[in-house]
Amino acid sequence: MAAIRLTGVVVGGARDATASVRRWQLWTLAEPLRSYLLAVTVLTAAAIVATPARTAWRASDVAVFAALLACGIVSIEATHRTREAQGTVVRDLQTVWYLAIAITLPPAFAVLAPVPLTAYKLWRVRRGLVYRRVFSNATISLAYGSASALFRLIPRDIAGSVPGSGVHVLTWTGVVAGCGAAAWLINNGLLLAAIRLADHRTRLRDLFANREAASSDLIELSLGISLALVVAINPVLMALALPSAVLYRRYLLHSQLVAQARIDEKTGLLNAGTWQREAEVEFVRAQRTGSPLAVVMIDIDHFKAVNDTVGHIAGDRVLRGIAGTLREDLRGYDLIGRFGGDEFAILCPQTTGEEARRISERLRDRIAGDPVVIDSGSHAGYIFRLTVSIGVSAMNGPGRTFDGLTASADSALYQAKGEGRNRVCISLDGSAGLNGRRAG
Ligand code: GH3
Ligand code: MG
Repeated sequence: MAAIRLTGVVVGGARDATASVRRWQLWTLAEPLRSYLLAVTVLTAAAIVATPARTAWRASDVAVFAALLACGIVSIEATHRTREAQGTVVRDLQTVWYLAIAITLPPAFAVLAPVPLTAYKLWRVRRGLVYRRVFSNATISLAYGSASALFRLIPRDIAGSVPGSGVHVLTWTGVVAGCGAAAWLINNGLLLAAIRLADHRTRLRDLFANREAASSDLIELSLGISLALVVAINPVLMALALPSAVLYRRYLLHSQLVAQARIDEKTGLLNAGTWQREAEVEFVRAQRTGSPLAVVMIDIDHFKAVNDTVGHIAGDRVLRGIAGTLREDLRGYDLIGRFGGDEFAILCPQTTGEEARRISERLRDRIAGDPVVIDSGSHAGYIFRLTVSIGVSAMNGPGRTFDGLTASADSALYQAKGEGRNRVCISLDGSAGLNGRRAG
């Protein structure tokens, strides 16, 4: 009886497992992204299986490893109620522990370390897509495993397992910094390739080359180097690093959330509230300095038909595609926001009405000539040729209010819709349609 029940459980379990594997979000991803994620994960799994067999296991190393993992777990636990920012490279300070493991222990430990920490995080935090967590921890495993192997290639008189005194402690620290930087490069290079395969328009600048990202990465690296140094001198000293690592992790997660609260999650553009606030600041500045400024309102034509054809999720991909075109085509200092639904608002500083009309015509032309391809999900392969209607208004004289300016851009947009769509209408003095133009 027990055997029969056991068999039933196993067969049922196997069937459940197969069904649940089939439901993995990973399979809905487009190629070559899916193969790339699988390849990196399989390569990491192979490293996890192969490296421990080549390692001389010592009880003292295992104890240091367990203590560093415990510190990593404490820092996850201390912040597990803080929601992580989504859709971006999360800087959560976990690499501080990985760098210390990579430097003070043989490479097998660095390769293995993300396994228990990921499992713990999936169990405790359970947010985000599982395949993304598994992939990003696979990249950490490869990056810090490689850094550990690299560190062991450096001659003892420059580095070695223990920092000496005098010049040696400086060269040792310099080598650790170099290995930390190499791990950063491998980790972020592998991540960036995945992000670019998912969306080729993602800009390096948004992810890494901005002041906040660079200062977070530098602080993370410097904390990691300091921790490696104290653990190499005496592992007990790692207790000193824990409070500052926890505090800084909390600060980082919080500031990433604050930054993300400005952004519309679906398109990555400014959300309506933020656009309004930041645009008003620009408006007041332009009034004070007497410089020109224009507001452009864009609405996708017949967007409902896209949803009716492929559903809302694929419709969201189309929205993201149009948002990407706006970001690509406009200047870095133009404020681009999603006003709601399929409507976008742009504030162009230092721009006259005529310049804004030219910019809008260029945008309209590009969107009309650039089909949006759905490249993943069940509607992969669908192509939409969309058009947009655009309303423009420009600040004309000191008497104008910000609300008046946006209202006239909005009525110019309605005029463009009324005149047949796929066109730009401009309102120079509050009356829409002075220069309504028909698309060719
Ligand atoms: P029009 O040319 O008059 O603009 O026609 P339209 O079909 O685009 O109509 P309208 O702009 O009034 O409606 C916008 C549609 O956009 C309604 C809704 O189905 C869709 N929509 C709004 N927000 C979202 C969203 O977040 N995701 C998706 N997929 N669709 C949205
Ligand atoms: Mg519309």
